[in-house]
Amino acid sequence: MPPIGPPPPEKMMFQLSLRRRGISDQTVLRAMDEVPRDVFVEPEQRAEAWRDTALPIACGQTISQPFVVAYMTEQLQLRPDHRVLEIGTGSGYQAAILARLSRSVLTLERFKTLADRARARLEALHCDNVEVRIGDGFAVPADAGLFDRIIVTAAMQDVPEALLARLDLDGVLIAPVGPHDATQTLVRIRKTKTAIERKELVAVRFVPALPGLAREL
Ligand code: SAH
Repeated sequence: MPPIGPPPPEKMMFQLSLRRRGISDQTVLRAMDEVPRDVFVEPEQRAEAWRDTALPIACGQTISQPFVVAYMTEQLQLRPDHRVLEIGTGSGYQAAILARLSRSVLTLERFKTLADRARARLEALHCDNVEVRIGDGFAVPADAGLFDRIIVTAAMQDVPEALLARLDLDGVLIAPVGPHDATQTLVRIRKTKTAIERKELVAVRFVPALPGLAREL
């Protein structure tokens, strides 16, 4: 939906703060400009939507900080022909950003409530190349196929082999790796013909990735 009238000042500050913090990829900045973050936060958080902070969403989870969303997206080096897998749909905000820069996005969430709400938001915004599924990022079935890019948006102690196996040749995976109760390191893994290259990027703080589907809704 195109905005009506000039953008609110807080939205201009939003773009400015992303640039100041070093996001320079124009396609990423444009996607961050076009996706309305206020649609993805809880109604009572709407006034905070354009601040560069993580915010609480349903099921005790969080929508990530905009800078971290932009940074991870930039590090993925997405191309319009890429097939992307996201683990941890949450609000659906990161998926909406990915969808603008790739061919298709499959995003998995262990809470049904979050998956249903994210799906409804993404449909309303006509993000037709995103599929939201209830699923466990620790047990992605092989029949999901291979992905050019994988992004994990919940903290994992290690990147599971089963997830790495879903990455295509020349594929890139980004995940916050580390303990659940402290900061994690954002790790970028590239799969080449001969090796698995691993690079540590920056310190981040994510909610934990937990195995299995959530028992509560
Ligand atoms: N990307 C989200 C933020 C994610 S918060 C956004 O843009 O809003 C992390 C999410 O990962 C939570 O919703 C949590 O329920 C989910 N999650 C945790 N462990 C998971 C797992 N094993 N499989 C799928 N989703 C998981």
